[in-house]
Amino acid sequence: MPLQSTPLDKLPVTQLKGVGVQLKEKLAGLGIQTVQDMLLHLPFRYQDRTRVVPIGAAQANTDVVIEGEIRAADIVYGRRRSLLCRLQDNTGTISLRFFHFSNAQRQNLKVGGLLRCFGEVRRGSSGLELIHPEYQFLDKRAPRPLEQHLTPVYPTSEGLTQQRLRKLSAQALALLSEGSVRELLPEGALDASRYPTLEEALQFLHKPPKNAATDLLAAGQHPAQQRLAIEELLAHRLGLLQLRAQSRQKSAPVIPPSESLSQRFIRELPFRLTRAQQRVAAQISSDLQQPHPMLRLLQGDVGSGKTLVAALAAIQAASGGYQTAVMAPTEILAEQHRGNFASWLAPLGIKVAWLTGRLKGKARETQLKAIEDGSAAVVIGTHALFQEQVIFRNLGLAIIDEQHRFGVHQRMALKNKRQADNSAPHQLIMTATPIPRTLAMSAYADLDCSVIDELPPGRTPVNTVVISNQRREEIVQRIRNACSEGQQVYWVCTLIEESEVLEAQAAEAIADELKLSLPEIDIGLVHGRLKPSAKERVMSAFAGGDLQLLVATTVIEVGVDVPNASLMIIENPERLGLAQLHQLRGRVGRGTRESHCVLLYGAPLSSQGSERLKIMRQTNDGFVIAEKDLQLRGPGEVLGTRQTGELDLRIADLQRDAHLLTLVKTIADDLMQHHPDRVQALIDRWLRHRLVYADS
Ligand code: ADP
Ligand code: MG
Repeated sequence: MPLQSTPLDKLPVTQLKGVGVQLKEKLAGLGIQTVQDMLLHLPFRYQDRTRVVPIGAAQANTDVVIEGEIRAADIVYGRRRSLLCRLQDNTGTISLRFFHFSNAQRQNLKVGGLLRCFGEVRRGSSGLELIHPEYQFLDKRAPRPLEQHLTPVYPTSEGLTQQRLRKLSAQALALLSEGSVRELLPEGALDASRYPTLEEALQFLHKPPKNAATDLLAAGQHPAQQRLAIEELLAHRLGLLQLRAQSRQKSAPVIPPSESLSQRFIRELPFRLTRAQQRVAAQISSDLQQPHPMLRLLQGDVGSGKTLVAALAAIQAASGGYQTAVMAPTEILAEQHRGNFASWLAPLGIKVAWLTGRLKGKARETQLKAIEDGSAAVVIGTHALFQEQVIFRNLGLAIIDEQHRFGVHQRMALKNKRQADNSAPHQLIMTATPIPRTLAMSAYADLDCSVIDELPPGRTPVNTVVISNQRREEIVQRIRNACSEGQQVYWVCTLIEESEVLEAQAAEAIADELKLSLPEIDIGLVHGRLKPSAKERVMSAFAGGDLQLLVATTVIEVGVDVPNASLMIIENPERLGLAQLHQLRGRVGRGTRESHCVLLYGAPLSSQGSERLKIMRQTNDGFVIAEKDLQLRGPGEVLGTRQTGELDLRIADLQRDAHLLTLVKTIADDLMQHHPDRVQALIDRWLRHRLVYADS
């Protein structure tokens, strides 16, 4: 087939000139396999090489083309040896600095030479400087033309130069002009006076004319960018909706409500369900009565009582004769759920089994058997529940706590634990902290959503203060006071590196230090390196009040519930995301006593760090905090593992482009109804190479 008539999504990138085996691999690493992929590999910024800036007008921290005559060229010995050239035009002078240079270079760059340079202007020891600029000699008699377009800068990887990528995208663009990338949006879906066509948008973004609106481009707000952002968001949404449609086609057990058991359970509680809990529990109960799998996301702020709602669902399943799997992200949390569920469910005659990766030997056999023969109606565990040896007799409901730590594929693995063909258990996914609305709309479009938007009555908001660790002494005194009044205290250590070992060491050091300064206080230590049995011992000693101060790493982040703890110190809170801090802070303020959280930061604090801690001080509302976290850190950080491969957006930005989401939703519905044939093409165009759920 001649290149010109091949659709570019079918044309391998190896058809471009100069792409051999090695380059092919490198491109594949960037997700580029076809010429269409090449075109969708978009610049993340541009350089303006279309005009010469007078040296006198060059500004620090901008990219410029300048031209001038070399007036001096010397080797200087500062902190590092460098070659320094003074370049002058009739508006001023500027320095070019080379730390690495060859002899030939040094001889060429001599006084009197005429240069054109391109580089970033920085403030240096000799005033404004260009460090290692690109340069070429000029000949007055034969002027060199300047670029006619803005120069794209592409995301790249090691060993793949910008020049290379520019050449390849130029070749791809030449093929594009043959009209070979299919327009997939429905006719009239976009206001044509506002947005360019797909082809125009791609041409523009790879090769913007020199008068292009660079401020819009830099902000990602140019109509050409927005046109593609819409399409990308659309593809993501369609991908998730497709996933949802696939699971809706499966069958699931119809589980009738269990009035008597759940009434009994609720009567025995020492408190009343909040109205929000009742509403959400009713939604779930009705989902369980449908012949298709429930796929529900349960959101609620820290401490809003999600576990109880989960227990109600498990009771319904058990009374209908089905098993429930409850999956937690950490051993500590699984252990705690086991405690809660066992004490809640045992009086109802519902047996709870339990499984983590560290359960071995006979104990493990016993649990596995209870799961397999169905005598355990509820099974609590960590991802050990996914393992193949775990066979459920009759799994009807999977409850996944703290979803953001699990990937979609893990959810799938659990779903597949139902034996019968084309059937799946109901799924309830609970998040640790609220997810911003825009993120929920895009990242969780495959799920229905319930929100517990009310805290149990009688909670006093945690009072948060931000204090420099230079005032550590005061804090130690504060701990002493709190403990002498019978309160309990957490001290949380954080570390920059994701190293359990270093983090454990840091926590040990702090615990030793505190034992020295607070000899009268019983101090426990818990970190990720402890054996589970040891961890359990410490946690239950703290829960039982035998320990007054618990030094911990962020392993205690999720779920731990000790209502008598009313003071928490978080060391170096600036290292954590807001959602994580909020989650940690939620460990206090669970009793009736006023609680305090001390954010003990390492001075000096960056302005972003200080901004973030200020938010923690100002609000206790997890939904507000989640929105701020999204603004400050972006969706990847906020969603955690969920985003790997799924929300890794190329051009859209959920925060910036939130205003497009309603439109995206409308177009998605239209496509599914009227152009189902285009849905797959769109998904393939944007997501093919990273579709985690393709094989599910
Ligand atoms: P989270 O939503 O963070 O998972 P939990 O389910 O751990 O919250 O509940 C936090 C605490 O609130 C627990 O001690 C739980 O027993 C208690 N709780 C749950 N619901 C209510 C309620 N309606 N009234 C009072 N306390 C409640
Ligand atoms: Mg919880």
